[in-house]
Amino acid sequence: MIYKIKATVAKITEVSERIRIFKFKWEGIENFEFKAGQFVTLSSDKFLDNEGKPVRRAYSIVNALYEKEYLELVISKQIYFSKFLFEKVKEGDVLNLDGPYGLFLLKECAENITFIAGGTGIAPMISFIRTLREQKCDKNMWLFYSSRYASDMAYKEELEKYAAENPKFHFIPTCTRETWQGRKGRITEFLHEYITSNRDIYICGPPAMDKAIKEKLAELGIDKKNIHAEKWG
Ligand SMILES: Cc1cc2nc3c(=O)[nH]c(=O)nc-3n(C[C@H](O)[C@H](O)[C@H](O)COP(=O)(O)OP(=O)(O)OC[C@H]3O[C@@H](n4cnc5c(N)ncnc54)[C@H](O)[C@@H]3O)c2cc1C
Repeated sequence: MIYKIKATVAKITEVSERIRIFKFKWEGIENFEFKAGQFVTLSSDKFLDNEGKPVRRAYSIVNALYEKEYLELVISKQIYFSKFLFEKVKEGDVLNLDGPYGLFLLKECAENITFIAGGTGIAPMISFIRTLREQKCDKNMWLFYSSRYASDMAYKEELEKYAAENPKFHFIPTCTRETWQGRKGRITEFLHEYITSNRDIYICGPPAMDKAIKEKLAELGIDKKNIHAEKWG
């Protein structure tokens, strides 16, 4: 079912100057049903395009399937609609929310699952990982998470906690623009150290990252049928 509803901004959490987590409470329906990996679109009657229509943008759902109280999104500040969200939208404001949409879903998979996220491309991965954790999934999981700066890395503590409690969950965060205690550089520079055989791979992030990762995976001999991607833009 596709909902076209009003949603109230219940909570805004600042991760950094560039990254915020928005929690929404929907109106007029009891539950917002979706599948892990899907996205919604947001628009506002106060932010219109040149033709007077609300500007609409897609955002991946962060929630796990069992989290029914709020709809959680993680958004990076860019130049247009997202800038409006950061600069004008406050807790208590009402936006238009449509969805869920999308076919970036978890497939039945073998023993190893790899997630590769760039920036706020972490959103659907959190939905997958929280859901799998709740289901007590015992597969080997790797999460590669690339961020320009360590301070922009939303959900880092949560992911570190999962890695600490589950030896089969491997969390490999990397920063591309600063030196910190973790790995540095693009995921493509060290992916070969970890991926040595075919496996299911889920990629989400900006188009340039998506392209570079797929080229690298082709070099590493990963079958295209094992690669599942949500490309932004
Ligand atoms: C399936 C999917 C899921 C996504 N999930 C997420 C997510 O979870 N988190 C996240 O942060 N992002 C996500 N995105 C990206 C998101 O949809 C937006 O693209 C992003 O927020 C940037 O939007 P923006 O309007 O600020 O900038 P852009 O979309 O990059 O805006 C640039 C475009 O806006 C127009 N524009 C810019 N300035 C003006 C102007 N002054 N007047 C008129 N037009 C102008 C131009 O057409 C320009 O090409 C997702 C995208 C997709 C497709």
